[in-house]
Amino acid sequence: MSPSVLRCSEAGCGTEVPRDYRGYSCPVCGNLLQAVPNPGRLSAEELKQLWRERRTSNALLDTSGVWRFREYLPECQADEVVTLAEGNIPLLAGIKTAVYAGARDLWFKHLGWNPTGSFKDLGMTVAVTEARRQGAEIVACASTGNTAASMAAYASRANLRARVYLPKGGASMQKLAQALDFGAEPHYVDGNFDDALRVLMAETDAGIYFLNSINPFRIEGQKTAIFHLMDQLDWRPPDYIVLPGGNLGNSAAFGKAIEELAAAGLMNPVPRLVIVQARGSNALVRTVESGGSELQVVTDPQTMATAIRIGNPRSWKKAIRALRFTGGIVMDVDDDEIMAAKQVLGRDGIGSEPASATTLAGIRHLIADGRINPEARIVAFLTGHALKDTDSILKAAGRSDAA
Ligand SMILES: *Cc1c(COP(=O)(O)O)cnc(C)c1O
Ligand SMILES: [Zn+2]
Repeated sequence: MSPSVLRCSEAGCGTEVPRDYRGYSCPVCGNLLQAVPNPGRLSAEELKQLWRERRTSNALLDTSGVWRFREYLPECQADEVVTLAEGNIPLLAGIKTAVYAGARDLWFKHLGWNPTGSFKDLGMTVAVTEARRQGAEIVACASTGNTAASMAAYASRANLRARVYLPKGGASMQKLAQALDFGAEPHYVDGNFDDALRVLMAETDAGIYFLNSINPFRIEGQKTAIFHLMDQLDWRPPDYIVLPGGNLGNSAAFGKAIEELAAAGLMNPVPRLVIVQARGSNALVRTVESGGSELQVVTDPQTMATAIRIGNPRSWKKAIRALRFTGGIVMDVDDDEIMAAKQVLGRDGIGSEPASATTLAGIRHLIADGRINPEARIVAFLTGHALKDTDSILKAAGRSDAA
């Protein structure tokens, strides 16, 4: 295990920089960097067996559903790791949701059941570990709330200061409260997430380590969600893997996981990735429709699903690569569809914040349109816990009470 280098994600460039390079984009061509895993010489069968055995181990690193797959993570010493035993997420069968979508083989993996209630924890355990290794004193991110809460929790455990840039009024009270509870220093930015990210990126203090999803170490942690899923499925890939798309870091991470697992002989055939955006924040949909070579920014992104209210997604090229590699689909759904699907998830006893429900809404569409066979085996990733945004639940309930 060990990417000692980061490499440009643009296939034709391949520029390498050291692991502690602080630029986040390629110094030659400006595209995003990515970590290069070095899994060693174990065969596919040996890896499967090793990862399965670790499930019964009580050693600290093995109890994390991220670090259990450390052959594919950046090398570090066990005592350097900052973990909250994240990533041990069950796979749940869809019941009413399956009927709603018209799917016969529908499964949910709810990454909102992580320690701080969103998938961001999978990336933060790796990236905060790296921040401390590199001697950072302050970690910082722009966030619609979940990244802030997650970063603050891991930073506190690592004894780092957490500075969070939030769009004023753009994060739910629950997410803000969490970040404060974990000791974050909030900076409120007039505007939306894209504005907050711009303010953050203009910070030049060398002691600050940036933890937005362009951070390649976050991507490494997030990619283990697919490794974990495959272990749960006894290494039989589903037909489709569905997730919401915002800044597209998670789409990039899942695509990278699928490529690496396929190369290792651990994922055959390759599942198709389905990225679902909110219609008011559908930059990737527009980009693919216009040919895929120029990002089509949405200047005033709108949606009730605040976690994906992003108009200028930074990882769009990596997301397109993931769509191409997997023969994937990108689509959008409107807020009414999102809120309807969210309610059905609640009736299945699962629950989620609005952004997660894009997946169920999207699947329903694709089956109704005949683009996905009702018999297909589908795994939908849910990304944030229902308690992350209780306002959206009460508003929806208020509407139906009044009706
Ligand atoms: C961050 C987040 C997303 C979007 O993920 P990206 O990697 O930005 O595409 C979706 N849902 C929830 C709940 C999130 O917190
Ligand atoms: Zn490059």
